[in-house]
Amino acid sequence: MPTRLGLIVNPVAGKSRVAKIYREIADLIRDVFPELIVSLTEKRGDGVAKTRALIDAGVDAVACLGGDGTFREAAEALAGTGLPMAILPCGRGNDLPKSLFGRSLNLPEALEIIRSHSEKPVDIGLARAKGFSAAFANGLGVGFDATVAHRIDSVKGLSGFPLYLVSTLTAFRGFRPPSVEVEAGAMTYRGPVLMSGAGIGRVMGGGYTLFPEALMDDGLLDIYTIEPVSFFKLLRNIPKVVKGQHLDMPEVCYAKARSVVYRLKEETLVQMDGEVFRVGPGNLEITCERGALRIWVPNA
Ligand SMILES: [Mg+2]
Repeated sequence: MPTRLGLIVNPVAGKSRVAKIYREIADLIRDVFPELIVSLTEKRGDGVAKTRALIDAGVDAVACLGGDGTFREAAEALAGTGLPMAILPCGRGNDLPKSLFGRSLNLPEALEIIRSHSEKPVDIGLARAKGFSAAFANGLGVGFDATVAHRIDSVKGLSGFPLYLVSTLTAFRGFRPPSVEVEAGAMTYRGPVLMSGAGIGRVMGGGYTLFPEALMDDGLLDIYTIEPVSFFKLLRNIPKVVKGQHLDMPEVCYAKARSVVYRLKEETLVQMDGEVFRVGPGNLEITCERGALRIWVPNA
């Protein structure tokens, strides 16, 4: 059992709910880990540096209170160190817990895992382009889902799946399908896409099972492309994508590979675990780093 735990807190996660509750959460964790070191993120990207600082301070594990973006940043810093990560989901999408556990966790459940757990090694994705490098714990997307993630902050008063649904519908207006070249093992796709992505976990975008065949520890990325479809076809098929029953649609290509290359013709919005980056033009190479992240999961 590790003795020193670090806690990364994103106070603005969950519509700033975290700012109100993190002291109480930290006190509950101190019952088990009296030497808890709490570190608050102040801006986007901070989680990577703050997690590295906790590692340098000698913690044995890092817990994260926040959303998928916070988990992504901590995972980037923890990857390859052998130090485990615990997640306390408090975000809007909570895709990583949904991929890991089949559903999101509430905070009492997540705290129970901090008290008593086993460790599960999972893969992470590493994305590299000219002058750019970032890791993701759950999934990466290009095209419509990146546009949705980009727009999501302008939708007020909603959370969870309704937020993503409303963002989906409003983002479709004015959306121009990007033209991509995707190479992943035996799969090659050239042309416009509604969206395309590479996944470690099964669930992305707040509740869509975009990677129904994904395993988080097989050393492989699941990769898909969806050709552009009409607004009505998109609407009609949302329930299928939520359940992961869309792979037989003629517009969908799906593959597994250790790595994938996107040849981007122009600057492109790319989302990783819900955080949007501008990448390209040029090659975006994504590799699967097998077992690079250790996560605390419920005791079997
Ligand atoms: Mg996999």
